Amino acid sequence: MQKRVLVTGGAGFLGSHLCDRLVEAGDDVICLDNFFTSQKSNVTHLLGRPNFELIRHDVTHPVWLEVDEIYNLACPAAPGHYQYNPIKTMKTSVIGAINVLGMAKRCRAKVLQASTSEVYGDPTVHPQPESYRGSVNPIGPRACYDEGKRAAETLFFDYHRSNGVNIRVVRVFNTYGPRMHPYDGRVVSNFVRQAIAGDDITVFGDGSQTRSFCYVDDLVEGFIRAMAAPDSFTGPVNLGNPDEFTIAQLAKTVIELSGSDSRIVRRELPEDDPKQRCPDITLAQKALGWSPTTDLRAGLGATIAYFRSIDAAAFRAPTPNY
Ligand code: NAD
Ligand code: UDP
Repeated sequence: MQKRVLVTGGAGFLGSHLCDRLVEAGDDVICLDNFFTSQKSNVTHLLGRPNFELIRHDVTHPVWLEVDEIYNLACPAAPGHYQYNPIKTMKTSVIGAINVLGMAKRCRAKVLQASTSEVYGDPTVHPQPESYRGSVNPIGPRACYDEGKRAAETLFFDYHRSNGVNIRVVRVFNTYGPRMHPYDGRVVSNFVRQAIAGDDITVFGDGSQTRSFCYVDDLVEGFIRAMAAPDSFTGPVNLGNPDEFTIAQLAKTVIELSGSDSRIVRRELPEDDPKQRCPDITLAQKALGWSPTTDLRAGLGATIAYFRSIDAAAFRAPTPNY
């Protein structure tokens, strides 16, 4: 039977790719978004499809729908976006989680939470397994996001234990690819936009901090496998690419692949910027049979091609922080 699937934050970077996959699979897809950090252009190609509908709504307000599965992605994800209105960010994570969990409880729907590697903060254990409890500054500028997502995980597990809600908690590590917002301020979109325009590439700090970059198609496959896993599988499970790079290496690779003559310049390292980040994906490999298959150079090639194909001027910068 056709599944009714709600994707909150469905017009965003990850959400729009997820909607593509679900619509192609024949599910009856409801995309819900307030368009804070996205725009309709990410999903306009789906609007004519009979199994797709789009709702403008804010997850901090209750929503009444009848669905079988919920992917809860609504939340600004880029540091410049989530720090713009930190109180709203925390409301989105916490009240948004309460609203989708309440709906999941009423409809007996399965619900997947897009959590984040930020629950590990600036980690002292490397790479990060799911058992690591993290090192988060609860009063710093990243706390609205990190602690909001941690509280959302708490709510997911309490609804599961107290009300039997069927949950999946997925901890997403840095993911990149086509449809990243050109003005989200994240490292891949910044470097690619800067390289294509011949602008200076802004490396924050000395560029020795590390990240592990997962291509969007791999990540979406992980979401779908986590949702399809047996009901005993609640997670939390890390999804990310374990190939680790310094930010300086990323800058050089983007310059090389885009054939750019941009210069690398140094900017101040933001407060609480994690020094290292790399997922331990043993659990995802064992429980979901999932591993990423796209290496950084291939994924960056597709991302550069996407950024060359768009008119960045047609995108509204969601906040001044890019
Ligand atoms: P994104 O900003 O492109 O997508 C988030 C979407 O949520 C946007 O369309 C935005 O308009 C919408 N949104 C924000 N607040 C909302 C609200 N109150 N009500 C309704 N919609 C709202 O970011 P993304 O990279 O696609 O991230 C999607 C999810 O995955 C987020 O929950 C994020 O925390 C998580 N995540 C992403 C990454 C990554 O590297 N991309 C890493 C870790 C976690
Ligand atoms: N970064 C950078 N230049 C930029 C944007 C980001 O050097 O123009 C660095 C940032 O300081 C961080 C890393 O790149 O160390 C990843 O930043 P991003 O905002 O993409 O995500 P984060 O993993 O920090 O949430």
